[in-house]
Amino acid sequence: MNIIFIAPPAAGKGTLSDKLVTKYDYKHISTGDLLREEIKKQSALGKRIDKIISKGELVSDEIITELLKNELQNLKGEKFILDGYPRNIAQAEILKSIFDELNIDNYVTIYLDLEEELAMKRALGRVICSKCGASYNTYFENFMPKKTGICDKCGSELKHRADDTEETFKKRFQTYIDVTSPVLDYYKKLEKLYVIDANVESDEVFKVVEQILQSGNVGN
Ligand code: AMP
Repeated sequence: MNIIFIAPPAAGKGTLSDKLVTKYDYKHISTGDLLREEIKKQSALGKRIDKIISKGELVSDEIITELLKNELQNLKGEKFILDGYPRNIAQAEILKSIFDELNIDNYVTIYLDLEEELAMKRALGRVICSKCGASYNTYFENFMPKKTGICDKCGSELKHRADDTEETFKKRFQTYIDVTSPVLDYYKKLEKLYVIDANVESDEVFKVVEQILQSGNVGN
């Protein structure tokens, strides 16, 4: 079963995806990561994307769809997690036509429901390894790195994401409410939507995701 995660910023999509990749061999497709890779390349496109992301705005549907389509076309039969797309109704419709074209119909949409205050705390405490991408959180004991500022896994420097400031977070959250949340209704009508309370420890959320996948029974 392929998975689409829909959630406000800092809801824990990345952490859950890492666990699913490790335990079930999923391929993790994160549109945020695809954009950050483009930024790292320092290309003209990367510089444009950097400005948009730093302001907490959404990148155009054309740019992100192009990057995503490429990833989906290059899958070699692996099951995948889609993290960060669709972010609006137009993208949900585009995704449906890409899935039709690629004969993909085996998927569930999982909504991680999280209160704004907790999401903000998670965003502001988040630090990410500049080399291997591992994620930590300086505000939550279970997620702190052993040594401040250093990745447990590879020893590289940990950094805050440029868009994890209070001001940008608030803008991203509002964009989520205004533009992304209507997508939930879209999937509810297709009977593809599961809702999970994500205001709890990520291990608990993970267990609920596993139950959904094992039931194979898509409801709402
Ligand atoms: P994320 O890593 O999912 O939090 O995404 C980081 C940023 O990348 C977002 O705040 C947007 O600026 C941009 N982004 C990621 N996915 C999309 C998308 N599907 N459509 C438009 N912008 C996106």
